[in-house]
Amino acid sequence: MDTTPYSTLTHLECSACGEHHAADVLQTTCRRCGLVLFAHYDLDAVRRTLTPAALAQRPASLWRYHEVLPVRAPEHVPSLGEGYTPLLLARRLGAALGCRALYVKDEGVNPTGTFKARGLVMAVARAAELGAQALAIPTAGNAGGALAAYAAAAGLPAHVFMPVDAPDATKRECRHYGAQLTLVDGLIGDAGAVVRARSADAGWFDVSTLREPYRAEGKKTMGYEVAEQLGWQLPDVIVYPTGGGTGIVGMWKAFAEMEALGWIGSKRPRMVVVQSEGCAPIVRAFQQGATTAEPWAAAQTIAGGMRVPSAIGDYLILQALYESDGTAVMVSDNELLAAMGELARTEGINACPEGAATLAGLRKLLANGAVSGDESVVLFNTGSGLKYQDLLPAADDAPVVTPPAA
Ligand SMILES: *Cc1c(COP(=O)(O)O)cnc(C)c1O
Ligand SMILES: [Zn+2]
Repeated sequence: MDTTPYSTLTHLECSACGEHHAADVLQTTCRRCGLVLFAHYDLDAVRRTLTPAALAQRPASLWRYHEVLPVRAPEHVPSLGEGYTPLLLARRLGAALGCRALYVKDEGVNPTGTFKARGLVMAVARAAELGAQALAIPTAGNAGGALAAYAAAAGLPAHVFMPVDAPDATKRECRHYGAQLTLVDGLIGDAGAVVRARSADAGWFDVSTLREPYRAEGKKTMGYEVAEQLGWQLPDVIVYPTGGGTGIVGMWKAFAEMEALGWIGSKRPRMVVVQSEGCAPIVRAFQQGATTAEPWAAAQTIAGGMRVPSAIGDYLILQALYESDGTAVMVSDNELLAAMGELARTEGINACPEGAATLAGLRKLLANGAVSGDESVVLFNTGSGLKYQDLLPAADDAPVVTPPAA
């Protein structure tokens, strides 16, 4: 009988120079060129044994795709119920914008309230499986919360390095989950430098995104889910709030895998990067036709997940934009704040500022003709507005306080 293992992971391969690396030891970046390693699988074996119809019977979590995920043994998964989030048809918002088929992939229902759960469950599971004793991460906030939760679930210590001005909710959640929190007087890149300087001596495994090969594998499941939820069709356009770009890079990889599996054809969505005017290195690089992005100076935006002045995967994000005939757009903090309220009032979706930025971006693309109202569009709401209480309307604006009924 032809049985497929839980994971068909074969090896890691450098996305830039092609150098092969062993999969079953802890790896970071390419030993030859220092760039991003991608996981590779025995897709032929999966193609022979797994069908979309069989998938449909599986539990509603990202682990339904386990053959194309890197974890070897299910007992290593510190699952908290991540993935298989709803793809909501936004009828009222679609009508207001003149969009025939507008969807919101709502990642806010993930454990820890953001899609960072997808990447961190994968990185933590793999690190535990390969013998890491302690984990460290630089983060704008949400990735730290997700690491803290999954490290707790896996029984590993976690060390989180966050900018001093990161959202209070993410600082508190790290401490709540028992992680060691250090505030860095700088941005996420400065936090990354601290982690890299200390990890070797401290015995920490650094799970910085795309410097560790498996967070992208977790986030690629968003691509599998969108395809499955649309009946193995991809939308015309995907709009994504981009920081380090792990999600866009992961989804672009997922589409190639799904085509190799025979689950989808060769049609791809146009990928759209949205960034904030206060930190838009990928948008600027795209507008210049560049293949890598210069660091953004004095980055500032209320959408912390997009406050990433420099990303190691810049060349992969830009590649997905060029290959998909996509585009990149920036929005102001005021525009994304207004979009948060609009998603809440018209669709009942409590979006994070990053997620709301995709709506503000889509409005610009509809206005300039880059997207037409006939096309199917998926916006990614990457997290819950509940983690950004200070951006919601203030409670004491409520005009009426009544005494209890007699
Ligand atoms: C991290 C983060 C992003 C950016 O995600 P990338 O895949 O790294 O580009 C967007 N939104 C939120 C809420 C985030 O936490
Ligand atoms: Zn390389």
